[in-house]
Amino acid sequence: MHKTLSIIVPCFNEEESIPLFYEAMEDVKKNLPYQFEYIFINDGSKDNSLETIKNLRKQNEAIRYISFSRNFGKEAAIYAGLQNSTGELVTLMDVDLQDPPELLPKMIELLTSKSIDCVGTRRSDRKGEPPIRSFFARQFYKIINKISDTEMVDGARDFRLMTRQMVNAILELSEYNRFSKGIFSWVGFETEYISFENRERQVGETSWSFWKLLDYSINGIVNFSEAPLNIASLIGALSCLFSGIALIFIIIRTIIFGDPTSGWPSMVSIFLFVGGMQLLSLGIIGKYLGKIFTETKKRPIYIVKETEKDK
Ligand code: UDP
Ligand code: MG
Repeated sequence: MHKTLSIIVPCFNEEESIPLFYEAMEDVKKNLPYQFEYIFINDGSKDNSLETIKNLRKQNEAIRYISFSRNFGKEAAIYAGLQNSTGELVTLMDVDLQDPPELLPKMIELLTSKSIDCVGTRRSDRKGEPPIRSFFARQFYKIINKISDTEMVDGARDFRLMTRQMVNAILELSEYNRFSKGIFSWVGFETEYISFENRERQVGETSWSFWKLLDYSINGIVNFSEAPLNIASLIGALSCLFSGIALIFIIIRTIIFGDPTSGWPSMVSIFLFVGGMQLLSLGIIGKYLGKIFTETKKRPIYIVKETEKDK
């Protein structure tokens, strides 16, 4: 009896990519002694992604799908895939072929030969990506690794192969605000990384705008670090200390030299500066508070409209 392997593929408006991905994957899996299961997650696509997946299922029973009631985001799609996977090994892959299926045999080989729990992949370069995006991505990894105890690997993709044990651990983290890169690392287990050269998307377009990425990275920081809260308190404490000293200085100077009404522009600047600092700190607290709010509501991470079992 062969071991089983689940391939989880989140899809959002990917009607063109899905058949290409399927072909490439079928090619690779021919030589692998595993029983495969595909789980396509249709993340509220507005195009014919779902039809495309259903058509493929007519050819191959091993294709399963979960279709969401709307777009819940890639993180939710990953969670749904993991929850519904049955394989002893599980892999996550983008459908746009930026995660090369050819790498999979190597990953399986590494995982089984070394008996580790997870093989991750990372891009050795960021070729073909806008320089601005690369710059911010690098800064993000620098900052987050300084202020969070959870290590995040620069360039690591979500493309990874995991054992059932690790998948079950990830499923235990059922938080609503999900940041997988952090979660994968937080659960521990032995992970090794394989590097590969960056690939450009085959067809279609990326659905991540700059603002969506910025929001995603702030989510990552707020979910895995309390440093911003500490920084806010530290700045507040320092500013109190210095203004206290300055106040004493001014009082003594006034007593000795009298009180010429000068220096009001600097006064106004100080007010504005301190006011700004307070607003910033409130904003940071608000960010955490918002996360707590969404967590306590305990809303489902995704809502299923249809799966292959419904037909
Ligand atoms: N994706 C998704 N839901 C979303 C956005 C993206 O399921 O809301 C999927 C998408 O179909 C693809 C993967 O996540 O399989 C990566 O998305 P994309 O290629 O747009 O991101 P990039 O490679 O540019 O980071
Ligand atoms: Mg992509």
